[in-house]
Amino acid sequence: MRIDLHTHSTASDGTDTPAELVQGAAAAGLDIVALTDHDTTRGHEEAIVALPVGLTLVTGAELSCRLNGVSVHMLAYLFDPEEPGLLAERELVRDDRVPRAHAMIAKLRELGVPITWEQVARIAGGGSVGRPHIASALVGLGVVDSVSDAFTPEWLADGGRAYVEKHESDPFEVIRLVKAAGGVTVFAHPAAAKRGRTVPESAIADLAAAGLDGIEVDHMDHDPATRARLHGLADELGLLATGSSDYHGSHKTCALGEFTTDPEVYGEIIRRATGAFPVPGAGGRRGA
Ligand code: AMP
Ligand code: ZN
Ligand code: FE
Ligand code: FE
Repeated sequence: MRIDLHTHSTASDGTDTPAELVQGAAAAGLDIVALTDHDTTRGHEEAIVALPVGLTLVTGAELSCRLNGVSVHMLAYLFDPEEPGLLAERELVRDDRVPRAHAMIAKLRELGVPITWEQVARIAGGGSVGRPHIASALVGLGVVDSVSDAFTPEWLADGGRAYVEKHESDPFEVIRLVKAAGGVTVFAHPAAAKRGRTVPESAIADLAAAGLDGIEVDHMDHDPATRARLHGLADELGLLATGSSDYHGSHKTCALGEFTTDPEVYGEIIRRATGAFPVPGAGGRRGA
């Protein structure tokens, strides 16, 4: 049983459409895949329609949060997408990405880069707009060689010359909202130091005490020593430990299924969730 619980589609800053993503997941030999676009559930419907036999979809989202000035990402699974409290919070964060992208484009133009909103909007294609879309425009303009190369202090990294903050939720509030919507929360890549500052273990303990369900341990941005440390922390705090690719198509190098979640951990996630159920591919078998 191969389970990948963190992927992005064109509904946010991935490059595969939701339909391509589920087809790719089946081709990669996955049994279960979660679609977790940034601050939106908009890709779910297309993914469900296209879901191949034998693949189960876990609906989710990756919610942008900030804790003591540090950006943190909260994966939320199997919540009721219509629950008004969580829906309002998700839309607030997603919609604020638009003026924030305009502000980053203005900064880039001041730096002499002839980038336009039209260019970025075309790349985002109606998805939840983010820095990878702007980075992709910079690649197109020949400013940088790759999307990753735009995530430097010179350009779009946190605190970089063209960086602008977006509205981000309080993770304690998000844990509460997701739970109220019947969902399960997993702190995404909590020790991904190369993306910017991370929170101390004491903060993870505080989130655990507030009802956090798990932490993402096996992730490309965690080296083996970090993964070992986080597995220990999860045990200590009674948190579930997940693994996932954080697949973004060609915007990142990680392949679908490159990291996976233990079936027992997955079983516990679906036992806890009451807001939505995993969706089996038409005629396919149920997940775990
Ligand atoms: P935003 O949500 O607009 O602030 O952009 C953050 C997104 O950029 C995250 O989803 C990351 O996946 C992506 N990202 C962060 N650092 C890098 C990097 N070094 N290379 C490629 N993508 C990155
Ligand atoms: Zn992303
Ligand atoms: Fe993330
Ligand atoms: Fe992600």
